[in-house]
Amino acid sequence: MIISMKLHATRAEIDAVVERIQEFGYKVHSIEGEERVVIGVVGLGDVTPCLESLEAMPQVDKAVRISAPYKFVSREFRSTKSQIVANGVEIGGDTFVTMAGPCSVESERQIIDTAQFVARHGAQFLRGGAFKPRTSPYDFQGLEEAGLKLLRKAKDETGLGIITEVMSDRDVDLIAEYADILQIGARNMQNFALLKTLGRANRPVMLKRGLSSTIKELLMSAEYIVAHGNPNVILCERGIRTFETETRNTCDITAVAVLNELSHLPVVLDPSHATGRRSLVPALSRAGVAIGADGLIVEVHPCPEKAMSDGAQSLSFPQFAGMMDDLGPYINLWKESRVAALATA
Ligand code: PEP
Ligand code: MN
Repeated sequence: MIISMKLHATRAEIDAVVERIQEFGYKVHSIEGEERVVIGVVGLGDVTPCLESLEAMPQVDKAVRISAPYKFVSREFRSTKSQIVANGVEIGGDTFVTMAGPCSVESERQIIDTAQFVARHGAQFLRGGAFKPRTSPYDFQGLEEAGLKLLRKAKDETGLGIITEVMSDRDVDLIAEYADILQIGARNMQNFALLKTLGRANRPVMLKRGLSSTIKELLMSAEYIVAHGNPNVILCERGIRTFETETRNTCDITAVAVLNELSHLPVVLDPSHATGRRSLVPALSRAGVAIGADGLIVEVHPCPEKAMSDGAQSLSFPQFAGMMDDLGPYINLWKESRVAALATA
């Protein structure tokens, strides 16, 4: 339920409403707004008696049921897109955001050179995994904390924000010391212990869609993080498993538009994991801009053929520079329409 108070409701009036909600056994999740206070309530089952009782209170303007099973991440809860700020950059606002860097942090030279290059070519965030989820236990597992330290060095040298993956709830606090955005990989989208812990993390989270997860499951996982206290969630479409074998995954590009319809959370597209092939990354990136993603997360490596993970889908430096140049006019159009949408919101 969303309870919208009348303008300039007093503290005592708000408290009385909260008390009435609690009498019905429901939990107040959030109280937002200054002039007009909006109270978010999780109420499962038939909430009609509670809604009617609240609407009868003189200080209440409207009490509305949220029918989606994901409440706080739904467009019903917030009709305008949320902006999430990380390292001073607004995601979901009027800046198209690019996150770029290697699949894995491998060495100081590799990460610093990449950071400097992508920063010069328009990226706002450096990506790079220090804790890597690998299908084979014999593959490179990441540099772990040493990798986080290299990411910090790259941030100090370039000013780029850092996005890096968290695989376990045990690592959330450690990684939050180094990262501006915590990336949750496709394989952990339904690691509920991790999602709950992220609810109390003081960093934005980018949640990637699971390999075989529906859009609804992605939104339910986002709801876990928000319901546990962290409203700063970014969604990421990174391709799903289908019968198609020409590409590593099948990019559900429509999911970007669907997510924008169903949720107010920002949506980022990952054209690298979605395709598995660097030749396809620029075309899919253009599609991402055109369909209204809020940003891209792209793998870039100084020497893709020597990469310790995901080399085949990583762009070389010249390829990344070329792609960013080509995206320029599309991003300008994106910005025009975004500025207009924000002005009428
Ligand atoms: C990654 O970003 O390198 C990664 C492992 O992605 P995903 O979780 O989408 O497979
Ligand atoms: Mn990767």
